[in-house]
Amino acid sequence: MKSKIRILLLSTLLLLLFVPVIVKANTCGRDSYTMAFLLVNEEDKEIPEGVIDNLNSLRVIFSEYFYNATSQLATIDTSDGIYTLNITEDMIEHPNIDLQKVMNKFYDTYPDDFDFVTVFTTFPSRGMFQTTVKKNLPGTGGGISNLSSYYGSDDRLLGILFMYNSSRREPSDLFYPGFIGGMLHELGHYWCCYAGDNFVRGEDNAQLEIIQQGIHYYRGLDSPYETGTPMNSDNWISNGDGTYRRENQDGPEKYHPFTLYFMGLLPRSEYDTKFTVYDAGIPGQDFDDQNAVFYKQVDVWDLIAVEGERCPIENNFEEIPEISKTGFIAIVIVVVIMGAFLIKKNSISK
Ligand SMILES: [Zn+2]
Repeated sequence: MKSKIRILLLSTLLLLLFVPVIVKANTCGRDSYTMAFLLVNEEDKEIPEGVIDNLNSLRVIFSEYFYNATSQLATIDTSDGIYTLNITEDMIEHPNIDLQKVMNKFYDTYPDDFDFVTVFTTFPSRGMFQTTVKKNLPGTGGGISNLSSYYGSDDRLLGILFMYNSSRREPSDLFYPGFIGGMLHELGHYWCCYAGDNFVRGEDNAQLEIIQQGIHYYRGLDSPYETGTPMNSDNWISNGDGTYRRENQDGPEKYHPFTLYFMGLLPRSEYDTKFTVYDAGIPGQDFDDQNAVFYKQVDVWDLIAVEGERCPIENNFEEIPEISKTGFIAIVIVVVIMGAFLIKKNSISK
């Protein structure tokens, strides 16, 4: 009995000593980010001519487009040049690459200075996607994750963009706004669009209904710009008879103010602005982009009512607490000691 009390006291002491070691993680609201451009090449092969130059131009242009897309509220520093990595056959998983192996090799070679790493390949690969590495953004509807160490980063990396085979692309293709729009789209997935339920015309008490596929805006969410926005809300114009049609103009796209809100950038004075959702049908069932009708209006307060508040702009750089590694290890040690004690106690009582 005495040893039980001793172990309990020791465990409590350990917890008291280490658990209060809380670190602050600046993951709530930020207005500046860094991004590395990484070109992945097969070992023993030459990097095709012109690819580095093209990517260098894209790198500069992307930073400008991002600044514009955030309505001059945030910057992304891409000034570090193009990082190259020669990878071995075991790091290639056709038609893609093994991102974990590639990123670990990247951090073996280069500094851990980036919030985002955008990956291109010199060989055929497929798809554009964003992989969230580290995230804790209350109020956005997105989950919490921390896979930093899995990818070889020491708690720095937030996300990876995979933008596939660069060698197949002509310069005019790479700088075509559609491609940069694709990059803005993939980067935008770090924050958007996860709030509420998919548009289903109110079935099963669906909330908000500004998204579809669980990860994009519903197309019927009106864009305040004549272009659409990178995360899929579109530009709707009146047919003059109470119906609306979709017409996205060409040009550089800007993030919807809701996206800026999810990024922690939208000034609080804009929270009252209402955005129309048009009923253009349910994708896959009766979607019709020529005869949409008014459905409802949504503002940021509606997002807050469903998801809770994203850190407001006044506290844009407020830090949110996270449990430290030492705290976590202390909890594990305590659990192991308690477990060992219980096993011992059971074996004695038998
Ligand atoms: Zn997407």
